[in-house]
Amino acid sequence: MNSVRPSAPPLAGLTPYDPKYLPADALLSANENPQDVEQELRQEIMHEIKQVRLNRYPDPLANDLRDMIAEANGLDRDQVLVGNGGDELLFNLALAWGGPGRTFLNLPPTFSVYEANACLTNTSVVNVPRLPDFRIDEEAVLARLSQGDIDYLIITSPNNPTGELASEEFICRVLETSDALVMVDEAYFEFSRLTMRPYLAQHKNLVILRTFSKAFSLAGVRMGYLLGDAEVLREFVKVRQPYSVDAVSQAIARVVYANRAQFEPGILKIIEERARVLERLTRIPQVKPFPSDANYVLFRTENASQIWDMLYSRGVLVRDFSHAPYLENCLRVSIGTAEENDLFLHTLRDAIMGKCDVRLPSARQ
Ligand SMILES: *Cc1c(COP(=O)(O)O)cnc(C)c1O
Repeated sequence: MNSVRPSAPPLAGLTPYDPKYLPADALLSANENPQDVEQELRQEIMHEIKQVRLNRYPDPLANDLRDMIAEANGLDRDQVLVGNGGDELLFNLALAWGGPGRTFLNLPPTFSVYEANACLTNTSVVNVPRLPDFRIDEEAVLARLSQGDIDYLIITSPNNPTGELASEEFICRVLETSDALVMVDEAYFEFSRLTMRPYLAQHKNLVILRTFSKAFSLAGVRMGYLLGDAEVLREFVKVRQPYSVDAVSQAIARVVYANRAQFEPGILKIIEERARVLERLTRIPQVKPFPSDANYVLFRTENASQIWDMLYSRGVLVRDFSHAPYLENCLRVSIGTAEENDLFLHTLRDAIMGKCDVRLPSARQ
């Protein structure tokens, strides 16, 4: 047989996720921490990995790590669930609260993974677009929720790629007026310093997503976690791949979490640099940056995809959202080291002032 029947129908309109990660001098496209885990901590990680029994299956729920996260958040073990990156937990959300005949409320422009997961699981998507300044259209969301058919929604705070926090008061109103499961995606919480954690006890329908990929320099390891109600998390456990979090990742995450205070100066530096980059961007003609509480800044500029080409031809990789819905002419730059940020700012200024030749016709092809 030299043919194969088609894959499942929901895949027909989908294109595989492509982070458009290309080699560059300044990698400012994926919101990673520019500093890798320090040498001393890496030694400790190596020591911990040496104890791992590679021939045995890992603890499926990573209970040691779970206990550490629970204790730090004043919760019990069964109110914490770890996953293979936040991305796995987002997929589990669609599996557990979505599906045929179920509905997800999406707030675009936001993280594109949410909608892709809904499509994969045959979940209907209701979009309530954000306002022109990317704030959530709060009244429209509450009105739509009052129809009573929404099974889950995700409020990203700070939102990716636009950078702003959702209002705490609004999230509380959503939690009170609806029995939909409300995931608050706090992937960038360490940079915004604001969390819905204090509301967990009052609201069974609240679940919080966090990750080790951004503030804790572990994007390469794949570790994320949920904080939520024990009964809600038990539903996630039902759909979860039992061994999705391997023993080596568990060991690395335990060491990093135990030493998370060491990341604090780096996080504060990123917050400081964020203010500097934002301020410098406002001074470049024709560039409109949007305020950010995360470790990246979205900005709008004319001919954004050409500007992207010019930046890339000079070794600066940012993320091009100019063809994404609601994000016309928008690029997103992650906050890097001071040197990387300077390279980005100089190059952008040159590109906009027309002092930059594009050496490659289109670097992306
Ligand atoms: C990065 C990110 C995540 C999780 O990323 P993982 O690397 O899979 O942990 C979740 N939500 C948003 C909005 C993100 O930007």
